[in-house]
Amino acid sequence: MTDLQAATTPREVWELLKAGNERFATGNTADPRRDPATRQQLTSGQNPAVVVVGCSDSRVPIELLFDAGFGDIFVIRTAGGCVDSAVSASVEFAVDGLGVDLVLFLAHEKCGAVGAAVEALSSGDIPPGLTRVFVEKISPAVAEAKTRGEQVEQAHARNGAEHLVARIPSVISGLTHKTVGVVGARYRLSDGRVETTYENFGD
Ligand SMILES: [Zn+2]
Repeated sequence: MTDLQAATTPREVWELLKAGNERFATGNTADPRRDPATRQQLTSGQNPAVVVVGCSDSRVPIELLFDAGFGDIFVIRTAGGCVDSAVSASVEFAVDGLGVDLVLFLAHEKCGAVGAAVEALSSGDIPPGLTRVFVEKISPAVAEAKTRGEQVEQAHARNGAEHLVARIPSVISGLTHKTVGVVGARYRLSDGRVETTYENFGD
């Protein structure tokens, strides 16, 4: 089954996304719902199954790596997946306004924004311009990765998901009622696979 929009529970959505990623990683994509008829059909409205907060990196195209199509995924991308008030409001809209079942924070291998934070912290040379925000947002993950002996992107994926859980009222409420699940994951450029670092289904 590849129909994300037919999924009824947060866990089911996550299982379908993982199955889509497996098809992508193994070169067996189904390329679902990318045809003109689906595009036309969706002019009357959208009912995405998941909201993804991810990085703008051109090597991490969200719909492609989950083998999804039109209307499946509400995507929010900033460099490093950094979350500000507009990103939080977009997640809130996806949960409250569009009724998504799952909130996914997706970090990735070789992330430039993460690299900038690591470099700034090791050199002590904090960027003076707008890119300073990456250092501010990602530094906690750099420290945490060191303590836990993991890679910074893994810590960033978990922190990003935890941040959405802690800060967004509709996500908190969805977890309480088990209508929304939250997952943190890291996409590996090297083998095309998405690796889970955090799961919260309100249990
Ligand atoms: Zn990135």
